[in-house]
Amino acid sequence: MMPVEPLTTAEIVPSIDVLSLPRPRLIAWFAELGQPKFRAEQLFRWLHSRLERDYAAMSDLPAALRQHLQNVAPLASLDIETARQSAIDGSTKLVLTTRHGAPIETVIMPMDAADGTPGSVTQCLSSQVGCKMGCDFCATARLPVRANLSAGEIVEQVAIACRRGYAEGRGRGGVAGGQDGPLSARPHNLVFMGMGEPLDNFAALLDALDILMDPKCYDFSPRRITVSTSGLAKFVPKLVAAQPDVHLAWSLTATTDAVRDRLMPVNKGVPIDTMVQVLRALPPRPHRKITFEYALLRDVNDSLGDARRLGQMAQLVGAHINAIPFNAWPGASYTRPVRLVIERFVDEVRSTGASISLRESKGQDIGAACGQLAGEKTLG
Ligand code: SF4
Repeated sequence: MMPVEPLTTAEIVPSIDVLSLPRPRLIAWFAELGQPKFRAEQLFRWLHSRLERDYAAMSDLPAALRQHLQNVAPLASLDIETARQSAIDGSTKLVLTTRHGAPIETVIMPMDAADGTPGSVTQCLSSQVGCKMGCDFCATARLPVRANLSAGEIVEQVAIACRRGYAEGRGRGGVAGGQDGPLSARPHNLVFMGMGEPLDNFAALLDALDILMDPKCYDFSPRRITVSTSGLAKFVPKLVAAQPDVHLAWSLTATTDAVRDRLMPVNKGVPIDTMVQVLRALPPRPHRKITFEYALLRDVNDSLGDARRLGQMAQLVGAHINAIPFNAWPGASYTRPVRLVIERFVDEVRSTGASISLRESKGQDIGAACGQLAGEKTLG
């Protein structure tokens, strides 16, 4: 056995967020502690493959090391505040609290054949508490509390989904070396479309992606991950440089700068054409998809002219359009168009040659649909 340096409480340093460290950084930190690489690999496996959150249970780590870790890197999970399941589509919204007591939400959505592989599960992840982007149609923007989530807190949402899925008998085996356990019930797809602007928490997003795509634990293919942005254009090439195959979604929601300036303040700094040019300039990848997310708002962005501009823009970028009729939330000043208007809009987009899907958000009856996430602690 490799020698382990004595670890004393005198070495206690400010707490280290070990759950946020991708494997190479965990190995580097262990090297600083005088610990061999294989010990870091063992800890990483406990944290992100077995999803263990108690050092005392990590039986193949020496007791002195476990005690030291408990001292300098106490593990903090997210607490499940409430869980609520949709009677309509089986989606589950979990309200979670961070170690600072801030509420965030994640939504676990069983998908039907029209949305993906039958029987597959997509999880919508939050990247921030609240959101400072201020989109006028979004409940999250109204939250008074705003903070970045750590990479560990982003990943922990997936760990919680795994544990719940496994407890409900949805383990599939065959992941991360074929181990049985909670990881075998991981969701099939991840979308960063929950609370927050993922690119506004860029470093944590990259670390979370590193952990989620690590073949020694979650092992998500980039083709199973979509990162959404309201339009923080300068981070898009950086994201693509770090993770070239992750899918991108642009929350567009208006086809003129005048309307988008009003709906999404980010547009004042990054107008529509700027973002279009950034997306067009990305190095092509055969499997990366770009989608335009378009929340349909009655008498705001649902005209036939909007439909034509949207279709033309999507073709310029090679993007698929997801049109999502607006999901109302208490206090919202928008409504969704009537069915006939929605159908005419979709037909008009298709007449430009663009591809478009009309999507109804999951979990509308539990406040879990797109734009409805508002960190409710009390759910009716
Ligand atoms: S729509 Fe997205 S970017 Fe805009 S305020 Fe809501 S969470 Fe933030």
